[in-house]
Amino acid sequence: MKTGMVANSIANYYQCCRNTDYNRFYNYKPNSAKKMNRRDFYKKSGVLGFGLMAGSSISAIQLPESTDPAFFEEEAKKLPARHFDVVIAGGGTAGVICAIASARQGARTVLVENKGYVGGTAVEGGTALHSFYNLWKAFPGVEKRQLVRGIPAEMVDRLTARGGATGYAEMVKHFDYDSVCTAIDTEMYKLNAFEMLDEAGVYICVNTLLAGVISKNNRVEGVILESRSGREVIFAKSFVDCTGYADLAAHAGAEYSEPNDYAVVNSMGLGNVDIEEYYRYLASQDAVGQLAYGVRSGEPGKIIRLGSEGSSGYPDEFVKGAREIGMSAISTTTHDNYLMFIKMNMNLPESPTNRDTVAKAELELRKRMQTGAELFRKYIPGFEKTFIARTSPSLCIRRGRLINCDYDITHENVLNGDHFEDDVFVYGFHDMAPRFKVKDGGSYGIPYRALCVKNIENLYVSGMMITSDHNAHMSTRNTVSCMGQGQASGTAAALCALNDFGSRELPYSMLRKALEKANVYFE
Ligand SMILES: Cc1cc2nc3c(=O)[nH]c(=O)nc-3n(C[C@H](O)[C@H](O)[C@H](O)COP(=O)(O)OP(=O)(O)OC[C@H]3O[C@@H](n4cnc5c(N)ncnc54)[C@H](O)[C@@H]3O)c2cc1C
Repeated sequence: MKTGMVANSIANYYQCCRNTDYNRFYNYKPNSAKKMNRRDFYKKSGVLGFGLMAGSSISAIQLPESTDPAFFEEEAKKLPARHFDVVIAGGGTAGVICAIASARQGARTVLVENKGYVGGTAVEGGTALHSFYNLWKAFPGVEKRQLVRGIPAEMVDRLTARGGATGYAEMVKHFDYDSVCTAIDTEMYKLNAFEMLDEAGVYICVNTLLAGVISKNNRVEGVILESRSGREVIFAKSFVDCTGYADLAAHAGAEYSEPNDYAVVNSMGLGNVDIEEYYRYLASQDAVGQLAYGVRSGEPGKIIRLGSEGSSGYPDEFVKGAREIGMSAISTTTHDNYLMFIKMNMNLPESPTNRDTVAKAELELRKRMQTGAELFRKYIPGFEKTFIARTSPSLCIRRGRLINCDYDITHENVLNGDHFEDDVFVYGFHDMAPRFKVKDGGSYGIPYRALCVKNIENLYVSGMMITSDHNAHMSTRNTVSCMGQGQASGTAAALCALNDFGSRELPYSMLRKALEKANVYFE
């Protein structure tokens, strides 16, 4: 490394440290380093600070004299390395909760997120967070129960208190689908999640791509990260893949398939919408489908979820146009004059892991969003002057790679409300309700084994990557399930790392105790 570069980076580093907000972030020291002074720690770990450590791996590769034009052989590089207890890849719906859970157990935890913010599909694609409660409203006489608590509920409660979520507003219509509606302000969610990670002491690497895995026998030993600061290695004891695409697990040699069984989506938020006028229009057509009232722009008793009954109530031209672009109009909102999620669905000829196929879809979906906004402007009262206020930064997927785990939750498990001897939380929502519902408005259990990647000793997955049966996946893939999985896998990963267990050696009683202590609900 050039001396000038070192001096520059040290100067930048200390400038950052003078700012107290940056202090905790840039001055992060893993627990084991706490007793050393800063100079000793950096000497021992071979790094000098955030940017500087990684910057050392930036340099051009010299072109050899003769090369095969169809290939290029990349020469080996010496990369800077650091050591932690737990690495979590993907700071999305599951990953945020996972990292907080791990750090709260006392494990030195790194979260690696490709984008500049955290939150994932929950803040990019979804409509409402389904669902913290059982489906009690569809089953008269059944007790109302909050099934998912712990860190996911803490996230929502904190967000609600600062005006960034609607809490658990009861559905007024279509409550045989979900009994409550938890709508979020996506921007506040990003900040809220980021702050909770920071407070938990997670070492947060945003704008950083997990690009490779180092493994030995059946264990993952480290991950290779890429960022503008360069390429680097993080070694750890336990790993959790929360990337949605299962990038970590795939690199680690996990068994997987790519079912390509869902449409991909870009979703848009529409601004300048008169929501009450829209409601009056649907009501005049006797076509109000989904409906919930809650706090909107600080005022209670306002519409926060609205959609028609199927396509009924809309003009024929609108329905025809919407079908052509795969548009789904059910939406939620936490603000006046705004509908947060209008979705454009598109089937791909192959898995969304194919970059070139996805590039075409990104373009097509942006065209569809403009067409969709135009359809609203032209045909639906209340939308005359609407515009696209938000889009997902890139297309959202409902499933990419499906990872083989020690247990595969079946649709029968979901519908029967099965519980297991190694449940890590319970869940009760099905996205195909009212056609498919968990028995008696109850819950089923997510077993620990469903998160353990087959044949790999120290790797968990959480989120949309589990559950092969499409209909069962229509339950397990939903946001609140992903969050519950995240709390379980983050806690387990930390306990394994701190006690030198492989994932199959962790005593269930130890995990259960830690989860119950962290307010996870079981029945
Ligand atoms: C259009 C749409 C609508 C939906 N509607 C609802 C709904 O209304 N209610 C509901 O409950 N559920 C809904 N779902 C389902 C739910 O939102 C998702 O299944 C869930 O959010 C997935 O969570 P996850 O943690 O698995 O992935 P994500 O939340 O997508 O998180 C993955 C994270 O990993 C990051 N990442 C990926 N690869 C890498 C890498 N190599 N290195 C570093 N970071 C990486 C990504 O940037 C992302 O932040 C919807 C899904 C879609 C697509």
